Amino acid sequence: MSQKLLKLIHKENVSPSSYIYHFERSDGHAFDFVGGQYVILNSGDDSDGKAIKRAYSILSSDSETESFRICVKCLGTGKASSILPALKLGDELEYSGPWGKFVGDPTWPSPGFSLILATDTGITSLAGLLLSKKFSGRLESTTAVWLKTKEEDFLSENELKNILSGVSNFPNIFQIPPISDPERVSSVLEILKSILGDCTVPENAFLSGDGNILREVRSELVRLGTLESRIGMEAFFNTHSPIVSLGKA
Ligand SMILES: Cc1cc2nc3c(=O)[nH]c(=O)nc-3n(C[C@H](O)[C@H](O)[C@H](O)COP(=O)(O)OP(=O)(O)OC[C@H]3O[C@@H](n4cnc5c(N)ncnc54)[C@H](O)[C@@H]3O)c2cc1C
Repeated sequence: MSQKLLKLIHKENVSPSSYIYHFERSDGHAFDFVGGQYVILNSGDDSDGKAIKRAYSILSSDSETESFRICVKCLGTGKASSILPALKLGDELEYSGPWGKFVGDPTWPSPGFSLILATDTGITSLAGLLLSKKFSGRLESTTAVWLKTKEEDFLSENELKNILSGVSNFPNIFQIPPISDPERVSSVLEILKSILGDCTVPENAFLSGDGNILREVRSELVRLGTLESRIGMEAFFNTHSPIVSLGKA
């Protein structure tokens, strides 16, 4: 199969820790995707010669198919996120995608109330969904929530307002404890309770960001009555449950 390439057409340092990258297909064709989907970029080989392939959710609206945008947080020691800022306009990167079968499913969301909840960098897929064609007629029955730490400088509220200009419902933003804090999950479950206290059980949900939180939120939603098949989940990090060693009683 021939290699698929993207060309960088714009790069913007939007916060101390992040860049927005604007790509178009190198072959000049439209980039068709469904809002909330992601691409996998190959940013080169590591010191062992292994390709550094990482997933990035598309932040821009699926109504624009000439190009698309992603926002990447620079993690101090991260492989891909330290290479990408050095890209120059016109540079090309191998990619695959768009991926994301769940949001790509035309039967999702079903009619009724939808909850879109993101933690940390998961805000990118939340933005992609709010800007999507499939959510454009259903924003009134959608609640969007962004859970972030006090220190998080990935995207400022102003930058998010720019990105979501034209979208009627801006996400409710809540502060949560740092990633390693043992109180993080319980604090999120409290917030979830306060949000859902006033409304009905979501028919549909999409969760993105910290896997440790998303697994708990999904369990809670299922307990409340949301069908598991209508809950989409994308863990950007903490993708697997922590291994619990079964000691002798
Ligand atoms: C479906 C999907 C969509 C994603 N979309 C985005 C996106 O839109 N923007 C974005 O910046 N990242 C996104 N990610 C995360 C991204 O794929 C990489 O994991 C991230 O850029 C780190 O890659 P790296 O090579 O720099 O770090 P690595 O060398 O792989 O190591 C960094 C470590 O940090 C962890 N990590 C990743 N993200 C975070 C975080 N936010 N906070 C703390 N630790 C983290 C990783 O799990 C890993 O253990 C997404 C991941 C998935 C699975």
